[in-house]
Amino acid sequence: MRKADIIIVGAGAIGVGMGVLLQKIGCKDFVILERKEVGASFMR
Ligand SMILES: Cc1cc2nc3c(=O)[nH]c(=O)nc-3n(C[C@H](O)[C@H](O)[C@H](O)COP(=O)(O)OP(=O)(O)OC[C@H]3O[C@@H](n4cnc5c(N)ncnc54)[C@H](O)[C@@H]3O)c2cc1C
Repeated sequence: MRKADIIIVGAGAIGVGMGVLLQKIGCKDFVILERKEVGASFMR
């Protein structure tokens, strides 16, 4: 199993937004877990 400093659960608007923010502040060791598809709520 992959290890990471930060795990974001859910690739909805908040999860993806947090990923963008983490990249902008230089944090690279994070993963976003999604059980369905990116933006599942918006797609629905
Ligand atoms: C019918 C409807 C219409 C909407 N229309 C609009 C609109 O027109 N404009 C607008 O701005 N907003 C709209 N919204 C609101 C918008 O969808 C939410 O505000 C936004 O999606 C919330 O983002 P979020 O990241 O908090 O949650 P979500 O978008 O719900 O993302 C959560 C994600 O986490 C995943 N997830 C949950 N539990 C787990 C788990 N245990 N493991 C892995 N993944 C998991 C889900 O699959 C989902 O992809 C609408 C909502 C609904 C229900």
